[in-house]
Amino acid sequence: MRIYLDHNATTPVREEVVTAMTQVLREHHGNPSSTHREGAMARRLMEDARSSVASLVGAFPRDIVFMGSATEANNTVLAHVLSNAGDAHVVTTSVEHPSVEEPLARAEATGRARVTRLAVDGDGMIDLAALEAALAEGADLVTTILANNETGTLQDVAAIGRVAEAAGVPFHVDATQAVGKVPVDVVAIGAQWLVGSAHKFNGPKGAGFLVARSGALQPLVHGGPQEKRQRGGTENLAGIVGLGKACMLAETEFASRAEHVRHLRDRLWAGIEKRVPAVVRNGAAERVLPNTLNVEFQDTAGEILLEALDGEGVAVSVGAACHSGSIDPSRVLLAMGRSAEQARGCLRFSVGPSNTEAEIDQVLEWLPSLVARVRAVPV
Ligand code: PMP
Repeated sequence: MRIYLDHNATTPVREEVVTAMTQVLREHHGNPSSTHREGAMARRLMEDARSSVASLVGAFPRDIVFMGSATEANNTVLAHVLSNAGDAHVVTTSVEHPSVEEPLARAEATGRARVTRLAVDGDGMIDLAALEAALAEGADLVTTILANNETGTLQDVAAIGRVAEAAGVPFHVDATQAVGKVPVDVVAIGAQWLVGSAHKFNGPKGAGFLVARSGALQPLVHGGPQEKRQRGGTENLAGIVGLGKACMLAETEFASRAEHVRHLRDRLWAGIEKRVPAVVRNGAAERVLPNTLNVEFQDTAGEILLEALDGEGVAVSVGAACHSGSIDPSRVLLAMGRSAEQARGCLRFSVGPSNTEAEIDQVLEWLPSLVARVRAVPV
């Protein structure tokens, strides 16, 4: 039996979602753009899903645009803003997901944008006064992550939205890790654009969405008239229906899921703190996703500890990526003031609704000796 504690990477698909998607694949082959009955049926399924997505994030169904992933949705917003502004100034943070950071870095490198990356404190939070100062010189977009994928840190997006609004600057929120885990209300946040992805909350991979509250977007993918000309290509109906189902389940089970994962996550941290020496938790406990625990195991090669855990049957994630033999420390942890050495020892545990206390206790039983073993190996 495997113990999967990597729900921020992706989640298992819920059985109800599989059933809904399978039914579409078997019985509803219509193209939502077709005017015959098969097309109308497909369209109805798609619009029902749109309503479910809208309901989960407090949006109007007409503002939801289906996308192939959150990566595509983030890229679409950035390309839209950059193509509207001649010499764009974008204000963001130093802890964004690559689907925001990479397009911005490219735009910067090709002279299409000037990017201000706000620093974060030791817990991964930006400073609102620094945001205000950055906006004082004029900006075309504020873009921030809501919940950080590595640490779970929750930015105060409602406060950021108020600062952006006061400065008259549109606001884009990458809420991919937050949707389905904590309450997300696009109106309360004051965001013009908000992005989510089904596979982070028990839906299928390849089904993202964008909430666009300020009029039509220029498509990133040009083609047919789908999604009000904002995203060409025949819609992934099964994926969209799966996304809708995952949203419905998240909305009804929301509170109980959060309580369950928080309980397991806190049990895990309490156990680690008690049984493993020289550990530090990354991110302020009270401003973190309920399911996420990022731990620094001091003087430990995180990637080797990950392998050791994997060998026992436990899936977690590291704060560093290994590229052809060299270790790249996590950009996010470096931005939070950790050294490359500290970042190397960081592991992310992300719990999901299907995990159990028994699984957490099993991990706690294995972890102390595995850490000791890894620490004993000279690096
Ligand atoms: N933003 C964040 C914060 C994420 O964690 C992820 C997925 N790791 C993405 C965007 C990209 O999502 P997708 O896999 O749907 O492209």
